[in-house]
Amino acid sequence: MMKFEFYNPTRLIFGAGSLEQLGKVVSQYGKKALLVTGGGSVKKSGAFDRAVGSLKAASVSVVEFSGVEPNPRLSTVMRATELAKKEECDVVIGMGGGSVMDASKVIAATVFYKGHPRDMLMRAGKVQRLPEKALPIITVPTLAATGSEMNCGAVITIDDEEEKLKTFIKTEVLYPKVAVVDPELTITVPKIQTAYGVCDIITHVTEGYFNGIDGTPIQDRFAEGVIITVMEWGPKAVSDGSNIEARIQVQWASIVALNGWVQVGTNYSAPVHMIEHTLSALYDVPHGAGLAVVNPAWMRFAARFRPERFAQFAQRIFGISAMGKDDLSLAMEGIDRFEEFLRSIGCPTRLSELGIGEITEEMLSYWADKTLEVICDEEGKLPGRPPLRKEEIVEILRMAM
Ligand code: NAP
Ligand code: FE
Repeated sequence: MMKFEFYNPTRLIFGAGSLEQLGKVVSQYGKKALLVTGGGSVKKSGAFDRAVGSLKAASVSVVEFSGVEPNPRLSTVMRATELAKKEECDVVIGMGGGSVMDASKVIAATVFYKGHPRDMLMRAGKVQRLPEKALPIITVPTLAATGSEMNCGAVITIDDEEEKLKTFIKTEVLYPKVAVVDPELTITVPKIQTAYGVCDIITHVTEGYFNGIDGTPIQDRFAEGVIITVMEWGPKAVSDGSNIEARIQVQWASIVALNGWVQVGTNYSAPVHMIEHTLSALYDVPHGAGLAVVNPAWMRFAARFRPERFAQFAQRIFGISAMGKDDLSLAMEGIDRFEEFLRSIGCPTRLSELGIGEITEEMLSYWADKTLEVICDEEGKLPGRPPLRKEEIVEILRMAM
């Protein structure tokens, strides 16, 4: 276990029906809210009207910004920021999936940021200047996946003429003041998007589990608890979207998986996410679908370097017997079972299933370069266990073919 400091100031209001409290909550932070939404799902479900009703009843006026796309673009963030400034909004509400919540966080910070917001995002493992201030942020997730509602990260695609890069920011001013989490809002999430969410949640904890240091027994059990719970309740939410108990368990898991608690002290890094982000940036692959393809391939690669940890995963998650097996074969059996689970809920697990078309060696090489353009260590490797050279990223991608 490493030394650590833990801080998460987001107030969490969790449970079916919580949306009713939105107005009262927001009125403690501002009088005029920028209400940020995606492509229309909240309007179709009626959640938008209920949110506006609750805000108006609490005397909060509403400025609407809709149209944040999945894999949100920096240009969209900048347009929303202009609106927030023009309308003098004093609080930002992100109501939607991870894309909407991430965009809302960066909008809230860009309002005060001097210079181009590109400079607050990670490139080549460095950030030019982090924001020091943001408008108060309130998150209202409508999809269980990212955990963005209760963390200080945001993933944004730079979509300049000269640069297309899906990168990120993680800094304290982006912690939402309050997360109003109403699992009833997730009932309308389509089957496949629910499955992608399940994959994202599991990947958030496997990144820490496999990339962290040795000797983290409590963190291991936390991570295993999240994985086992999501593997039990996720398929129920996929097969019957109106199963509210399943929606509640999956939503709680998504928060626990990435609000920091599971990862503390583990020296967490996220190579699977970083490789996936390149696919999302270049081909608009849904995040969870890309993870379902990259994670098993990465696991098969990384298991060679740390077989005992993957053997533990096989035994504890799937109850696979170790009798007569060495760690590596046990590890591989566990990874096969994990991949089978992903397939059973409808996720793709091969690059060929992502609708990219024909994939060439040149493309794999370019994707590895793009991944390292976002983040690399001093030796030019992608952080993780093991740290990955360009050729190793290419090898992992090849294993995902
Ligand atoms: P998303 O991109 O926010 O949304 C995916 C789709 O789901 C959208 O088409 C959206 O439609 C729809 N949707 C959302 N809620 C719905 C509902 N209640 N009913 C019906 N449809 C609904 O998906 P996400 O997986 O939550 O977020 C992915 C993004 O988050 C990626 O950019 C990823 O890199 C990032 N991410 C962030 C973190 C973090 O910690 N900040 C962690 C992991 C991933 P509408 O647009 O119409 O609403
Ligand atoms: Fe994720």
